[in-house]
Amino acid sequence: MINDVERVLLSEEQLATRIVELGAEITADYAGEEILMIGVLRGAVVFMADLARAIKIPVAIDFMAVSSYGAGTSSSGVVRILKDLDENVEGKHVLVVEDIIDSGLTLNYLVDNLKSRQPASIKICTLLNKPDRRKVDVDIAYNGFTIPDYFVIGYGLDYAEKYRNLPFIGILKPEIYQD
Ligand code: 5GP
Ligand code: MG
Ligand code: MG
Repeated sequence: MINDVERVLLSEEQLATRIVELGAEITADYAGEEILMIGVLRGAVVFMADLARAIKIPVAIDFMAVSSYGAGTSSSGVVRILKDLDENVEGKHVLVVEDIIDSGLTLNYLVDNLKSRQPASIKICTLLNKPDRRKVDVDIAYNGFTIPDYFVIGYGLDYAEKYRNLPFIGILKPEIYQD
């Protein structure tokens, strides 16, 4: 698995440091409130688990699954809800947690959909932001790292369901997905 990694882009230590900062920022911004964190399955799970523990106010968690890349490395633009929330978001302070925003198509669809359910507020927190291939504007409230246009894996992010358990963010060797 490790042999498929061209190089480490963000180390375990860099991720941990930044997540503590994000947690402190979110804690301060929502002081006196409660948050409903909505994780976008499956890539956001690892980040969300660490982020939730860095937030020092009450947090509820829920998940949504939407179709995105399948086994490929670029967005189709067709978004489908595969798993909806278990919780009602009406009147809640919603924080949507994503692993990475690339074209922005997935999140744009998701946020519009959630807004129609009348939350008290809705903000986006993403671990990674890859603005080079953005197709629609996304208003990101909390961003871990802005990265160049590499296909990255690890810390929740997969290629064909592999590499999610790597503890760092790595750049996949192009020969892994170019054949
Ligand atoms: P978007 O709709 O913004 O193009 O991307 C939606 C999803 O595609 C992301 O949430 C993520 O799951 C996946 N994705 C985008 N870029 C990458 C990448 O560099 N690596 C991996 N593993 N997934 C990505
Ligand atoms: Mg995602
Ligand atoms: Mg994926």
